[in-house]
Amino acid sequence: MKKLSNQYLEEAIEDSKPYAANGEIKPDIPRMDEKMRDMLGVTIITPDFEIYRAGEYDQTVPMQSTSKIIGLMLALQDFGKDRVFQTVGMEPMGDFFNSISSLESPANEKPFNPMVNAGAISVASLIKGQTVENRFSRYLDFLKDITENNELKMDEEVYEAEVNNGARNRSLAYFLQSTGTLVTDVEDALDLYFRMNSIMMNSTGFARVGLFLARGGYDPDGNKLIPDQHLRTVKAIMLTSGMYNASGHYAVEVGFPCKSGVSGSIIGSVPGVMGIGVVSPPIDSKGNSTAGGALLKKLSKDLELNMFGIENIKDKH
Ligand code: GLU
Repeated sequence: MKKLSNQYLEEAIEDSKPYAANGEIKPDIPRMDEKMRDMLGVTIITPDFEIYRAGEYDQTVPMQSTSKIIGLMLALQDFGKDRVFQTVGMEPMGDFFNSISSLESPANEKPFNPMVNAGAISVASLIKGQTVENRFSRYLDFLKDITENNELKMDEEVYEAEVNNGARNRSLAYFLQSTGTLVTDVEDALDLYFRMNSIMMNSTGFARVGLFLARGGYDPDGNKLIPDQHLRTVKAIMLTSGMYNASGHYAVEVGFPCKSGVSGSIIGSVPGVMGIGVVSPPIDSKGNSTAGGALLKKLSKDLELNMFGIENIKDKH
């Protein structure tokens, strides 16, 4: 087993960077361009808040789909597991994350899970607040607490692009409205979803979210913000559905809960061990960062992070 250090992370980054050539940067996201093609940054934070970083760890990107796990935590807080999963399923989906056809399947009646777009829009409609502004400020305050970063905010240009390019998400949301799945007004649910996607974050922020899930839902001041049962639910959903329709592959090859976004961001959470944040914009056809994915596989192997291995408990026998 390798020892975690900044130097080890630099080496791991050099090994993983060539995989960026296999991906493409999503062209319609503001703040992201071809200059980011070779970019790869990582932060790892341990439960006693030791921080390890390498590469372009400070580069911010829009959260995109990584925002879905925060929305799920808030909805679980607001309504509890039973009510949330009346609105959205908990099964992995083999189709792409913005699939429309899966919604119409008679066997299903609700979106497959909270990590696909339709599921996240349903979940957004559950987050409590009088107005979209209230709901979004609850969302942002929660994220600021978790990441200990009061500067976090939505990028207006990214938000505008989400709204202007949102035809597909609008189709999903209006279909959900037709089946009575949405709790709030359809445009309100969409607006909150678009805002969540547009928050800018760097790899350290992503790692802090992973750590929050990994160390019992405490903020850095020691306040418990989420009960264990909700953390378990979120991590299980991340493991089974967090890496789009490659989640099975990542469960096998990485073996801990992860969530990716089409900005090339990934949140990794190794229960009791560490939070991992990765940013590398080129993504594969399923939406996962190519170099970021390669890096996670390497970290899992070198640092023995696979939850299904016995390596983590070896020392205890
Ligand atoms: N803004 C993108 C969408 O809603 C995010 C998708 C993603 O990161 O998976 O389609």
